[in-house]
Amino acid sequence: MPPARPLAKPEIPIVTSFAELNLLPEEQLANLNELGYTAMTPVQEAALPAILAGQDVRAQAKTGSGKTAAFGLGLLQHVDAAQFVTQSLVLCPTRELADQVAKELRRLARYMPNIKVLTLCGGLPFSVQRDSLIHAPHIIVATPGRLLDHLNKETVNLDALKTLVLDEADRMLDMGFAEAIDQMIAHAPEARQTLLFSATWPKAIAAISARIQRSPLAIEIDSVDELPAVEQQFYEVARGRKITLLQQLLSKHQPASCVVFCNTKKDCQAVMDALTDSRQSVLALHGDMEQRDRDHTLVRFANGSCRVLVATDVAARGLDIKGLEMVINYELAWDPEVHVHRIGRTARAGEGGLAISLCAPEEAQRAAALEEMLHMKLSWQTLPAGTSVVPLEAEMATLCIDGGKKAKMRPGDILGALTGDLGLNGADIGKIDIHPIHAFVAIRAAVARQAWKQLQQGKIKGRAVKVRLLK
Ligand code: ADP
Ligand code: MG
Repeated sequence: MPPARPLAKPEIPIVTSFAELNLLPEEQLANLNELGYTAMTPVQEAALPAILAGQDVRAQAKTGSGKTAAFGLGLLQHVDAAQFVTQSLVLCPTRELADQVAKELRRLARYMPNIKVLTLCGGLPFSVQRDSLIHAPHIIVATPGRLLDHLNKETVNLDALKTLVLDEADRMLDMGFAEAIDQMIAHAPEARQTLLFSATWPKAIAAISARIQRSPLAIEIDSVDELPAVEQQFYEVARGRKITLLQQLLSKHQPASCVVFCNTKKDCQAVMDALTDSRQSVLALHGDMEQRDRDHTLVRFANGSCRVLVATDVAARGLDIKGLEMVINYELAWDPEVHVHRIGRTARAGEGGLAISLCAPEEAQRAAALEEMLHMKLSWQTLPAGTSVVPLEAEMATLCIDGGKKAKMRPGDILGALTGDLGLNGADIGKIDIHPIHAFVAIRAAVARQAWKQLQQGKIKGRAVKVRLLK
């Protein structure tokens, strides 16, 4: 494992396994095993002992390095479930990231009885959140803007706060949250532990750290050391030929899941249109999309209803997309660091992946800079001329059902309706995601239309429901 620098201060023990952390309750170790967390990631190894000892920590580590569990396991140790006051607060830049963090915290807290984790983000009515806040949650995961609304209206109280976490701090600053963060800090007690996580470390982050942290332990995990698990291939190609090459590469590799990174929204759109035309299962993710469309896109990509996601860096940052088989850089990133973040997504927590980069001659300098930074010779490949383009079809399709958490819809209700009354085979039903007002069901594409028609006429929990087949 790559070394963390600088090393933890001497009074903090150096540990190399979760077992040595003596986490409570004892079942936590079994829980981590069940989650497949058998060894600590480098950032966890470097940060957890200090976090458990109550020290402030600021850590820079790339996306996918396990930062959530690093602060999550730490803050959970400091939460007293018997005290019904808010003891931990995690700030995230977007609702998606907040949802992901809350989900991970709940998984980590599975063996801790009655820990209430609440997310507070825009996009949901304030009044609904105010009602959930009548009984203070132990842990709040929030975006800065919405949290500040609650603090100003005194629906959230941070007087008993023990741990404050800023996750993806660089992105929060990019999104203009610096002031909201400063205002929020005024509501938090002085005696608290502050943890700051960021993928990059611009000056503005150092400044925030200086303002809100007390002699933090600084951790920097060298992302370059973690590269070998990703196989990188480079293709030289004229700009005007990139789309064809991309279509051919997708045809050749047939990835179950692939993210294509573009530097601009315009390229995103062009790639999306071309792949749609060649019937290669594709959706786009870019900054201009409405939250609802982003949610739908991510659900469909994660549940196998879409094989290729075309995205800009900003839109895709921080998203924990599981089991990505392949990443394609439609154009080299301007910054080698960004390149490393992109390709790191196919080798999450140690699993190998393939990263292909398409380079036009005018990107030669960027390729040279990359070669220097990675200390490796780029592996240039060619594809036989005339490699054919074949459709890439998704295995699943998604039904979107009106009625989610608020309507107390549960996966079992939907599964029951589909397999019981409608007689679908359980094997044809995939992931079921319950969102606040919608539920999403992945259905094997071949039977999706039939299931959709039947469900429109059928019932769930004794009630007729509105259903759409997303395409
Ligand atoms: P980051 O916030 O650094 O981008 P995440 O916290 O989202 O990374 O973790 C990335 C992935 O790694 C998640 O799917 C998470 O479940 C997994 N993960 C975290 N810690 C471990 C571990 N110790 N062993 C195996 N997988 C882990
Ligand atoms: Mg994260």
